[in-house]
Amino acid sequence: ASDKKLIGKVPVPSANAPVLLNFNENSLGMSPKATKAIQAALPETFRYPDAARGEVIATLAKVNGVKPDMVSLGNGSSECIQATVHAFGGPNVQLVVPDPTFDSAEVYAKSIGMKVTKVRLNAAHQLDIPAMKKAVEAFPGKSLVYLCNPNNPTATITPDSEIAPWINSAPASVTFLFDEAYHEYVTDPRYQSAVKWVQAGKPNVIVARTFSKIHALAGLRIGYTLAAPATTARLNEFCSIDNTNIAAAVAANASLQDTAFIQRSLQATALARQITTKALDELGLEYLPSQANFMLHRVKGSSAAYREEMKKRHMMVGRPFDHYDGWNRLTLGTPGEMTAFVAVLKDMRRQGLV
Ligand code: PLP
Repeated sequence: ASDKKLIGKVPVPSANAPVLLNFNENSLGMSPKATKAIQAALPETFRYPDAARGEVIATLAKVNGVKPDMVSLGNGSSECIQATVHAFGGPNVQLVVPDPTFDSAEVYAKSIGMKVTKVRLNAAHQLDIPAMKKAVEAFPGKSLVYLCNPNNPTATITPDSEIAPWINSAPASVTFLFDEAYHEYVTDPRYQSAVKWVQAGKPNVIVARTFSKIHALAGLRIGYTLAAPATTARLNEFCSIDNTNIAAAVAANASLQDTAFIQRSLQATALARQITTKALDELGLEYLPSQANFMLHRVKGSSAAYREEMKKRHMMVGRPFDHYDGWNRLTLGTPGEMTAFVAVLKDMRRQGLV
């Protein structure tokens, strides 16, 4: 599609219709095929969702080169993360997480009394694998390691060359949860999905993915894990029965097969990123290399003051993160939304605010 067509409508932010660039949603909206699938399934929603769940599990297995008994669905990948922590964690198990990262593994671990060890990102704002490995080796009990790749809030990837030697040599007492929520956006060839270890039958590797990002189904709540059959069976024991509703399941199944939509979604985000980085370059504001549908960039002064100024202009931008005051996490909305964002950002520069 041409850039002009992709840019689409440039919104005029207002109190009633702020531009929402704060939750890493996909404001392109879902695939038209997903919408149609929901409409067609609606009359059948008096039934339990087993058939629809079975279909999306079969498609996920096919697309990812695994068997259906290696796929577990969640009410969003958040439920998959919760199930993993509850199934493989416990009061005597340590959770090792990057710092900062998406914090739901930590939240679920704390709720069951787990020790949480936070490991700062390295100088390249990537996961510090040697330091995470050290934290595991220093702990006398079992560890569950959460590896968010690409990481949130930095949108950076951690290269396979850094991760692979650890996964290949770690004892089975270490469980690895890879959160690949933004997997589909990655273009950096140094990244590799951890699915290869699942395909190879490694029982201690779990990969969580979501339909909330590239597939734009955040409000319908559907995510999944890929893991060895016995690992998946264990995860299922910690998920609520029939956790995926029919609308989410049929929409996900249709979206997975709508390659044209996925391409359009990727193109829109790439253009949104280009519009944003061009402006940040012009304004001399540093940013990290984004491999996701959001990016972390420098602001002038504190992040909180910047967010307030943006909010006054009806632009909702990302939240605070430890160690990154003076930065803001910005969701890449539609190219039109980012055009509106850039106008506000440049206006704030004229006022000396950024
Ligand atoms: N994992 C990461 C890294 C995320 O950024 C998010 C949401 O922003 C999630 C998981 C949760 O997504 P959901 O529960 O919608 O699948």
